[in-house]
Amino acid sequence: MVEATLTESYDIVVIGAGPAGSSATHAAAQRGAKVLLIDRRQHIGIPVQCAEFVPQWISRHASFSSACVVQTVDKMVTHLPDGTSYEMKSPGYMLNRSLFDKELADSAISSGATISIGTKAVGLSAEGLAVEEGSEKKIIRSKIFIGADGVHSTIARSVGQPSLKTTVALQYEIVMPEPQNHVDVYFHKDYKGGYAWFFPKGRTANVGMGLVPSKTAQLPALLDDFLNFLRKSKKLTGAEIVSRTGGSIPCEPFRRTFFGNTLLVGDAAGHAHPITGAGVLNAVIAGEIAGRIAAEAVHRGNLRYLEKYEIECQEVFGKSLAYSALKRGLLEKNWNEPGIDFGDLIRKTWVGFKEYYKGRRSSNAG
Ligand SMILES: Cc1cc2nc3c(=O)[nH]c(=O)nc-3n(C[C@H](O)[C@H](O)[C@H](O)COP(=O)(O)OP(=O)(O)OC[C@H]3O[C@@H](n4cnc5c(N)ncnc54)[C@H](O)[C@@H]3O)c2cc1C
Repeated sequence: MVEATLTESYDIVVIGAGPAGSSATHAAAQRGAKVLLIDRRQHIGIPVQCAEFVPQWISRHASFSSACVVQTVDKMVTHLPDGTSYEMKSPGYMLNRSLFDKELADSAISSGATISIGTKAVGLSAEGLAVEEGSEKKIIRSKIFIGADGVHSTIARSVGQPSLKTTVALQYEIVMPEPQNHVDVYFHKDYKGGYAWFFPKGRTANVGMGLVPSKTAQLPALLDDFLNFLRKSKKLTGAEIVSRTGGSIPCEPFRRTFFGNTLLVGDAAGHAHPITGAGVLNAVIAGEIAGRIAAEAVHRGNLRYLEKYEIECQEVFGKSLAYSALKRGLLEKNWNEPGIDFGDLIRKTWVGFKEYYKGRRSSNAG
């Protein structure tokens, strides 16, 4: 057994260099805090576990170069099993997500933070953050910790949070014969609690599917069938698969994200949208809030100030997430209910229909 060594202290240690962690690091280091950003990966942004579609207004919250945008998108087309389809304006970017993540990490380092890749957090206690770097074990001390370590967060577990409710997703990147400037979303009774997507990305496209975890075993066969359906319906000759990815996506936010000297941010806090699974924008927004509030708490020498993080996140996107979580509950409960019109259920629970937003103002959650 290798003894853990103690390392120097920081103001803030951020665990995870995804969009949430890099945004938090940037916001805190910019304000003069001594920040360490760690990630267990050897290459920031790789592998990509994302369909890479984000709303265009993300550029108000994150600064990234035009090289990160593979193409723009103007609308979303939602397809129902009866063959009908509905269009909604949805100005977005298809990102080069690995470059995007690297650029956000780069901004964080340029603001004065230190980064340590290949550093895996294994637990957080009163002693500090236990990490492993290969066979070496260390304890890192800090005034504040920000857990931005994704959906299976070690930090969330360390502060006593249960596992997050999730959906599971599988995705192929395929060769695209023709360009397309909209994204497609498909619903089918077999895609339980989720949907399939076709997101064009210049000369390739991301074709994927997300479902409730109980359907994980069926996911590969369903995605293969979906790809064959696209080959016919979109006349995609060839459409060869050039890469595969997948992962879990949180679909219910944690109520608590502030624990003494520790904050949870992005997927680690369940900040992804419970219906769409989109999480990059909220990760960036919550990261900025966490980093800014943490730097201010250090400056004031008052950890109680950290509670402002939870309050601000609640004000910015809390109601929208809570409303969406209610819709997910309705969706899952009624998916196989006899007598429920499946098209009506999707119209009430999918963001591409105006019925989704009905009742949002009158509801407590929205
Ligand atoms: C298949 C799929 C498709 C998706 N499509 C979209 C989409 O089109 N649009 C969208 O907005 N969202 C999408 N999402 C969700 C989106 O990817 C996440 O919401 C987003 O990445 C959250 O950012 P984050 O920084 O919180 O976490 P992550 O991006 O997951 O970053 C967490 C980081 O923490 C590191 N880490 C984890 N554990 C440790 C540890 N113990 N020690 C040190 N480091 C650690 C990881 O290496 C990683 O770099 C998709 C997700 C999946 C799985």
